Amino acid sequence: MEYRSTRGLRGRRLSLQIDDAVRAKTYGTRRVCVVEGCNTFLSAYNPSNICALHNGGWRDELKRPTRKQHPREEMTRNCSFEPCGREFVTSNPAKKYCSDACRMKAFQARAVAARQAELGTSLQARRAS
Ligand SMILES: [Zn+2]
Ligand SMILES: [Zn+2]
Repeated sequence: MEYRSTRGLRGRRLSLQIDDAVRAKTYGTRRVCVVEGCNTFLSAYNPSNICALHNGGWRDELKRPTRKQHPREEMTRNCSFEPCGREFVTSNPAKKYCSDACRMKAFQARAVAARQAELGTSLQARRAS
C-alpha cells in the first residue's frame, strides 16, 4: 500500500530522461585516469583521459617551456654580501652577488659564521652538562 503512495516512479523516469540527455553531451562515466596508480574516476565532463589533479600537473609542465622562450629580463639587484651591497644588473634570477669575489667572500663568511655557531652551541652544551 505504501508503495503506491510513493510517486517515485514518475520522478525516477524524469531523472532517467535527464540522465540520457546529459550522457549525450558528455564523455561517459566510469572512466579512470590514465596515469598509472591513479584510480580517480574521471568526470563525465572531462574530455581528457586524465583526472583534474594530474591534468593540472601537465599544465604546469606546459608552462615551463614558454617561460624559457621569453628572453630573460634584466634586473637591478643589490649584492647579497652585506659589506658590499653594491647594485648590479643581472638577467640571472639566481645571481645574488655583484661579482665572484663577493660570492667567495660571502661563502667564506657563512662558513666562519657556521663554525662560530657550532662552537657556540657546543660551548653551551658543555656548560649545560
Ligand atoms: Zn589522476
Ligand atoms: Zn658585491
